[in-house]
Amino acid sequence: MNKKGTDFYIKAGQRAMEWHKANIEKMKKCRFDTIAVHGIYSMQEALNFNQGSIIEPIYMSTSQTYRDSDEMEAALSYQIPTWCYSRIANPSMYYYEGVLALLEGYKTGLDTSCIGTASGMAAIQSAVDPFLVVDKKNPNAPMNFVSTCQLYGGTFQQFAIRKDQEKNIEWRKVLNPTDINDWATKIDKNTRFLYGELPSNPSQGFFDIKMLADLAHSHNLPLIIDSTVATPALLRPLNYGADIIVQSVTKSLFTSGFGIAGAVISRKNITSNIENDEMKADFATYLKLLPNRDNGPNISPMNAILALNDMRTIRSRMDLVSRTTKTIADFLVTHKHIEGVDYLGLNNHPLHELAKKYLFLVDSEHDEMYKEKVNRYGHLMSFRIKGDAQATRNVFDAFNRIYRATDLGRIKSVATIPAISTHQQQGEEGRKLAGIPANLIRLCVGAEHPDDIIEDINQALEVLDGKKYQVTFPEYSAGGASSGNFEK
Ligand SMILES: *Cc1c(COP(=O)(O)O)cnc(C)c1O
Repeated sequence: MNKKGTDFYIKAGQRAMEWHKANIEKMKKCRFDTIAVHGIYSMQEALNFNQGSIIEPIYMSTSQTYRDSDEMEAALSYQIPTWCYSRIANPSMYYYEGVLALLEGYKTGLDTSCIGTASGMAAIQSAVDPFLVVDKKNPNAPMNFVSTCQLYGGTFQQFAIRKDQEKNIEWRKVLNPTDINDWATKIDKNTRFLYGELPSNPSQGFFDIKMLADLAHSHNLPLIIDSTVATPALLRPLNYGADIIVQSVTKSLFTSGFGIAGAVISRKNITSNIENDEMKADFATYLKLLPNRDNGPNISPMNAILALNDMRTIRSRMDLVSRTTKTIADFLVTHKHIEGVDYLGLNNHPLHELAKKYLFLVDSEHDEMYKEKVNRYGHLMSFRIKGDAQATRNVFDAFNRIYRATDLGRIKSVATIPAISTHQQQGEEGRKLAGIPANLIRLCVGAEHPDDIIEDINQALEVLDGKKYQVTFPEYSAGGASSGNFEK
């Protein structure tokens, strides 16, 4: 057999990489919706590698075979495009990562990269851990990071327990994130990164991204933003100087609710005081090829394609659900049993003006319905019941259409009481820091007609007028299965 030599494969790999790079540049010129629909999958890929299939393939395989030892050697030294083993890479993951990198980088003029993770929490851990490493020049120095407290409950636990308590990595808590001095005074030479959630879940915290990115960079630190609630359809923090974005793709991006997924998206050449040039040059690719290879938190091909399939409509969906949420917020504001409504889209929200500077429906100026830039504030809102914890539970228990679930971003409306669910573990004091009272109901509005959601909330609030709430269950499922509940 004629040996081809590794050089043969490396040259072919270089030609292919140039082709793909040019294809990405071509996609960058398209509008947001076109990128969301096509991503980096092309007609050429379909015809050459995927039997013409117009939809991206789900490669349910652990690994890839090679033509010979030369190709294997070139591949395993990362010198040709390869996916070798699905813990590290896989074609399905690759298309998922490609589209997210382009969406977060949309119209920023930046080169971006992305790594898919099995969950949002894995994305957060992957994004922060490379900065929490021993400084070889000063191995005994304590480490800290500066972050808001208005965080998703899981992130609060990861920071408070896994980092601060178990590893003695100090979490310096910013109580008033709109006050830039609150951040500045907490930074010292042992600080490794700044972190914030935007808007925060569920309390809709917000801060000035650009100001914070400038502060971070003036201290040679990266700014990491959890942009899950906004999605790239409403906000692209890289555009304002953020270095790294984490997404719980599970939420609005993966709206069908078929699975859990996450992603880390980064710009090239991030700012950091850690001496690791490879990490700084291309953070997400570094994660993919090294730490995440060794730690193994990456996404499965099945979830990657299911999520990618939902992402195609993210822009129009975020527009629809944002408008519906505003309608519901307006209704609640006037309701006699409501103490207050927290929605960034309401004029009287204390952070409305700030959020208005940042949250826009992408490409609305190119949408024939709007023809100008329009603000959209997403589908996460919360409201406080006039009453105690029990009254709040009674209203919550009376929802008939809105699902009681610790979830958000769904195509169906879901609600939760954060104090007894997502934010239960952090205790009374942690909840106070995060701004989560016992009478707060978090509602994430789906794509139903607003009239029907309002009707459901309205009838649930009637329990506060003394209406008895009773729900009846059928003995058989419509599909024929017996529920076994024949006790009546
Ligand atoms: C849900 C959520 C996470 C965690 O994501 P998972 O995919 O559930 O692991 C992180 N941040 C925010 C803002 C979230 O809403």
